Amino acid sequence: MAAYRIGVLKGDGIGPEVVPAAVDLADLSARAAGLSVEWVELPVGLEAYGQLGDTLPPQTVEALRGCHGWVLGPVEHHRYDPRLPSMRNPSGTLRRLFDLYANERPARNLPGVPSRYEGVDLVVVRENTEGFYADRNVLEGDAELLVTPDVVVSLRVVTRRACQRIAEYAFQLARRRARPGRVTAVHKANVLRRGDGLFLECCRSVASRYPDVAFDHVHVDAAAYFLVREPQRYDVLVTTNLFGDILSDQAAGLVGSLGVAPSLNAGDGYAMAQAVHGSAPDIAGRGVANPTAEILSVAMLFEWLGRRFDDPAATEAARRLEEAVGAALSAGVRTPDLGGSATTAEFARAVRAHLAPGSML
Ligand code: NAD
Repeated sequence: MAAYRIGVLKGDGIGPEVVPAAVDLADLSARAAGLSVEWVELPVGLEAYGQLGDTLPPQTVEALRGCHGWVLGPVEHHRYDPRLPSMRNPSGTLRRLFDLYANERPARNLPGVPSRYEGVDLVVVRENTEGFYADRNVLEGDAELLVTPDVVVSLRVVTRRACQRIAEYAFQLARRRARPGRVTAVHKANVLRRGDGLFLECCRSVASRYPDVAFDHVHVDAAAYFLVREPQRYDVLVTTNLFGDILSDQAAGLVGSLGVAPSLNAGDGYAMAQAVHGSAPDIAGRGVANPTAEILSVAMLFEWLGRRFDDPAATEAARRLEEAVGAALSAGVRTPDLGGSATTAEFARAVRAHLAPGSML
């Protein structure tokens, strides 16, 4: 395979701190694994708005069409003016434009990371293109209606096609994971009888084609309870957009910090690495953000490239990157979110030392 083109969109807040660190380490890992990557930096977010008048400039979207995948840093969406089309949420817009329908969000104990639980190894698979997300449910405008100044109606979209393919994604993932697979559908079909009823029906029908993967389902409120009581009981949790967003942050808290929670947004043609966390305005600019989530998200992108292009070098680059992060954490190098005092740069240096032991640090 010739060089992969991977877009780099730094985003807002801590994005310009954690994304370059992740890309730098991913590049080292790729080189060591014999993987050729061309990194293409593209404008996005508040900086792009300041320079080009658009949080997701058309030239960025066009350039992404020529990429195999990309890394999107967090965006400080609450500061975007919802009345301005030029202040679109890049995250939601890209998921929809490139049909990145599956958001895969693993939560597992990492070596050396203090956490309330041990033995957690689960993945939340979140439908990414519809559900309760007002910015992706209608062709123009958004799906929140101001009926009177005191009444808002928010519309949720649930389609058979989206439910079936997210269920399919979850079962495929469960099959790939090392232990005997189990998929748990998380829903609220007792109240949202039609929308979540359709989701559950689709999960059941896909489950019947995967007899080797166990299947069960749980109401979302009970899922939140069981996650706190006994997170080890779960393997792959598949759910609709908003429930997945909430439960995956909860799952990140179970294994230490949002700073270690990676994610991948995948479709059939493209994939976007994007940490679970947001722009963390409370710590932005201080150089103390944990880059682990972003680094592991790029590792997930490498894994995806390995599967899509049947390329062992990409899989190997992912493995090396994960291993180096694990080694740095095991050695006790921790950013403040994990109770340590390392800066972003110090943590990145520790990872680098494991990727390229002889290099200048
Ligand atoms: P957040 O994830 O930015 O922060 C929540 C808490 O986690 C904060 O205390 C923060 O300091 C901490 N945290 C997050 N990432 C960290 C890291 N890498 N290292 C150390 N600590 C970390 O959530 P929020 O405060 O609710 O949202 C802030 C902004 O981010 C909002 O504008 C929101 O819309 C946006 N957001 C964007 C994304 C995305 O782009 N994927 C996701 C969630 C929120």
